Amino acid sequence: TLSSKTALVTGSTSGIGLAIARALAAQGANVVLNGFGDAAAIESARAGIESEFGVKALYEGADMTKPDEIAAMVREVEGAFGSVDVLVNNAGIQFVSPVDEFPPEKWEQIIAINLSSAFYTMRAAIPGMKARGWGRIINTASAHSIVASPFKSAYVAAKHGIAGLSKATALELAPHKVTVNCISPGYVWTPLVEAQIPDTMKARGLTQEQVIQDVMLKAQPTKEFVTVDQVAALAVFLCTDAASQITGANLSMDGGWTAQ
Ligand code: NAD
Repeated sequence: TLSSKTALVTGSTSGIGLAIARALAAQGANVVLNGFGDAAAIESARAGIESEFGVKALYEGADMTKPDEIAAMVREVEGAFGSVDVLVNNAGIQFVSPVDEFPPEKWEQIIAINLSSAFYTMRAAIPGMKARGWGRIINTASAHSIVASPFKSAYVAAKHGIAGLSKATALELAPHKVTVNCISPGYVWTPLVEAQIPDTMKARGLTQEQVIQDVMLKAQPTKEFVTVDQVAALAVFLCTDAASQITGANLSMDGGWTAQ
């Protein structure tokens, strides 16, 4: 159980992050939601977590491209709840384009959100974890932290980067009972995946059905999407005592994709 613990999940107003926040709340953790979206929908997700799981839930709107806002968010959470015990770096965006046409501002944005934000949350939250002698840092990486696909240069670079950042940090924090791991899903059916279908159709000259079957599920031998609840269940497991010796690992949940 995670009661009396606090979990901060970046990019948790939607998709995988929201499922992880809800699953940690179900274990008794107070949770902090972060991300963008419709204010009323975010408030209803936040209030829903409180009423459904009997925990406290806070919303922090920090922009993961802004190091100052990230540091302020961690300080506010520590002020409100006393600690950040579980840090899930999950915020992420995708952009699909040939590398020579890739807009530089999209490159910078993807590196900032998908990689650098984790450095900034960690450097803010780690001193408290070290002081308390317990912590769990879980980074939502991707199959693209292990293998590549064409037209996703920034995303693949950022995800390989976060895999390396996780390993280095895991070694540093091993003596402090703080574990750092990546969860690397294959294709999970979320708004992020749905939104990249039109661009992939354009970049590869395919229909929507061809993108789903021949591009996305082609890579995944099970021919099924991963669910957000499956990813969340692995995040919950990484917070247990049974997982205390799992650190510096990059755990795939990709229907066999990266075994090929
Ligand atoms: P999603 O679009 O449903 O959720 C992304 C979340 O990040 C949202 O809450 C969004 O508001 C937030 N976000 C975006 N920009 C932000 C910013 N600047 N500051 C703060 N929050 C911001 O996508 P998802 O599929 O749930 O993706 C979550 C993570 O999982 C990402 O890191 C993604 O790369 C990774 N992932 C997804 C898949 C997949 O197939 N869906 C596969 C592997 C890895």
